[in-house]
Amino acid sequence: STPAVMLSAMAAAARGGVLFKSSAALDALAGVNTIAFDKTGTLTQARMTLSHTYADDERGALALATGLEAHSEHPIAQAIVQAAQAQGVAPTLVQGAQAIPGHGIEARLESGELAWAGNLRLAQREGAALTPAQQQAVDTLSREGSSTVIVGVGPRVVGVMGVADTLRPGIAEAIQAIRAAGVAHPVMLTGDKREVAETVAKQVGLTEFRAELLPEDKLRIIGELPGPVAMVGDGVNDAPALARADLGVAVASGTDVAIESADVVLMQNDMGKLAGAVRLAKDASRTVR
Ligand code: ADP
Ligand code: MG
Repeated sequence: STPAVMLSAMAAAARGGVLFKSSAALDALAGVNTIAFDKTGTLTQARMTLSHTYADDERGALALATGLEAHSEHPIAQAIVQAAQAQGVAPTLVQGAQAIPGHGIEARLESGELAWAGNLRLAQREGAALTPAQQQAVDTLSREGSSTVIVGVGPRVVGVMGVADTLRPGIAEAIQAIRAAGVAHPVMLTGDKREVAETVAKQVGLTEFRAELLPEDKLRIIGELPGPVAMVGDGVNDAPALARADLGVAVASGTDVAIESADVVLMQNDMGKLAGAVRLAKDASRTVR
């Protein structure tokens, strides 16, 4: 049976907003060497806003983008749909929309042409080349830490959009506290561009990050990081990594599937509480042994 020390530590953690689904999870957290954080929705709030549109026809580009992104669940998509609504831009009609994980979304226009919205990887896949001005827009936005969405039809780029996210309040202090609690390797994993990852990593005080990852890359990296490894995430696409890690941690604002796949849930979406839980777990497991 579970030692009383573990039970009372789990109860104390729960009062602090950290829900352990089992005493094994508490024990696992005590020994964790690496904590891998998803970026969007975990280190950031995933409340994105459209900040820039570079296009010859800005409203046309936004109409196409919102027509596509209305069919996507990604937080980037919401920012674009909201901006279009706020500006009174009606969505371009599309058919057979299909999300391409780690890339973006594709659909057919009424003309039969293939329209798309997503990252550089998607643009490459569509055989679209950016003009130097478009590439410069992507580079500038990325260095500022904004995600970029490229919108196109077939091999033609119609526009480049910048989508800004907000860090979770207190996230830098939380990372510092997690390190101080004895976690040697806090690391960020993201599907976003290298320059965006680098900027966000700096802002939150992470020296280790891996960028431009496809969902399957995240899974593989979980197995390669110095273990035991905890993974913290929020999204549907994080669920496999949460399950693969020695310990899966979900933020409560995340999707149901992430919460179900996790061993620990951060009820108040507060990463500082995770640092407290690490200390609590270490104390409890020391007492038991
Ligand atoms: P992450 O949550 O780390 O950004 P994802 O796998 O969800 O990881 O996405 C990886 C990248 O794919 C995003 O950073 C974005 O560039 C691109 N992407 C995915 N879905 C969309 C979408 N609907 N619209 C635009 N870009 C997208
Ligand atoms: Mg996420």
